[in-house]
Parts: sequence; structure tokens; C-alpha cells
Amino acid sequence: MNIMNYSLKIGWLYPELMSTYGDRGNIIILQKRCAWRGIEIDIQTIDFKTVRQDIEKCNLFFGGGSQDRQQGILIDDLRKNKGPVLKEMIDNGIPGLFVCGSPQLLGHYFIDGNGNKLEGLGIFDMVSTYPSKGTPRCIGNLVAEITNLKSQIPNKHKTIVGFENHGGRTYLNITQNSKVKNQKYETLKKTSIQPFAKVLYGKGNNGEDGTEGAVYKNCIATYSHGPFLSKNPHIADWLIKMALEVKYKKEMILNQLDDTLEWQAHETMLKKFVK
Ligand code: GLN
Repeated sequence: MNIMNYSLKIGWLYPELMSTYGDRGNIIILQKRCAWRGIEIDIQTIDFKTVRQDIEKCNLFFGGGSQDRQQGILIDDLRKNKGPVLKEMIDNGIPGLFVCGSPQLLGHYFIDGNGNKLEGLGIFDMVSTYPSKGTPRCIGNLVAEITNLKSQIPNKHKTIVGFENHGGRTYLNITQNSKVKNQKYETLKKTSIQPFAKVLYGKGNNGEDGTEGAVYKNCIATYSHGPFLSKNPHIADWLIKMALEVKYKKEMILNQLDDTLEWQAHETMLKKFVK
């Protein structure tokens, strides 16, 4: 199938405030992997001035990581002015990749290192909170085995690799999780969120339940920086394929790219931390 001349618009959440640890590299990788296949790619920055009409034209969302301070600066605008349209579009299947700080804000709330509770967008059925003061951050290499999306990812690539640096711990399916269960969340029983992967090395969501990241509809959340897609080309291609299929409403087959270097880097981390 010739996918030349198809086009995609990537909505990029607050690039100036949410691009820690090379996360903007994920945008460059998506741009390149589309361009190498003749897919036209356009970037729509989503920040304080962006209006609903421009967000509605997006076919794929990306949000990077950020320090607590930056999350505090943007959360009101994100929740009030972008929340409703993002929720609608994500609930309707628009794919997205959200790294560390941004998925923390797409959950129900994030309690930061100073105990400030940032009300989230409630798109992901999860909460994030810092543990008691003095508890070390989750910092280091991260290797995990994909547990969801498995069926859609080419067989031989079951793992993801990257590095993490976060103080917040994330708990999925809060409706099932007695830790934070209360009235307000009962109504959200219908939402279904699954872990993205099972931790093989590192901390992942909280260093307790072995989960890493989350999958909700066609969106992936991960604690993996790096940038994440540099050593995980299978996930980059999954996002591009999903975005094309949702936009053009038909199955898409992406031509294979030469990912020798990417897989060498991936395998090196597997050998070093797992095998
Ligand atoms: N500020 C958040 C935390 O520490 C997210 C950090 C990040 O995006 N790397 O948990």
C-alpha cells in the first residue's frame, strides 16, 4: 500500500515547559519516520494561546516531562482550556504518547513534592503523588516488557527501554485501588486503563506494583525519557500507523525502515540490565 502524500498533524503539549531529558527528540523522531515514508507531517504547538479549533485538527498528541514547578504553571490552562477537547478526542481514539510529567496531569490529580495538589484532566483513571518526604526519586535506567498493545506490536519486539527520573508515583485504576478510593471516583468505573508494561529493571510507575506506564484507548503513558522513541522504534511506528488509521479510517501498512542502530541500542540495554 502506498502511503505517500498522506499527512498527519501532531499536537505538542507546551513544548517550552514540558520537554525535560530530551523529550522533544520524540517529535523529531516522529517527523523523520514520517518524512522517510513520504508522509507529510505538521506540528501544532499546544500552549496558552492555542484555541480549540487548532487542537481539533490534530491526529496525534505528544506531551513530554517537566519539573513540578512547570506543571504548576500550566495546569490551570491545560485543565480548563484544553481539557475538554483533549478528553473528547482521546476518548474518540486519537492516539498519543505522554511521557512522565504530562500523563501525571492527564490523571485525576498530581500531588507534587511540596504537597500541592494539582487537579488533573481525569482522562486517565490514575493518580500520582510524591511519597513521604525524603523518599528518593525514581532515577535510573528503565527496562520493561510490554503487557498491553502486544497484539499490535511486531512480535519480536516485546520490550521498551529508556531512563526515568521522577518523584511522583503513579497508581492506575484508582477505582480498584483502595489506596485512594472515594465517592467522587465511583462514577468513573466505566473507564478502563491498563499498564503499558511490566518492569524488568527500574522503578516504573511506583516501584511497588511492577507496572510501567499506562494504555488508555490509543494513548500510551510512560515514565521513560531518552527520548523514549529513539531506542523504541516499534512504538514510534505503532503511533504513526494508529494516527493514519484513525484519520483515514482504513488499515495502513508502513514500509519497514532500517532500524539497525535503534535495535543495537535497545539490545545493549537489554543485555546490560536484563539478560
Ligand atoms: N515533576 C514530575 C515528577 O517528578 C515529573 C518529572 C518528569 O517529567 N521527569 O514526578
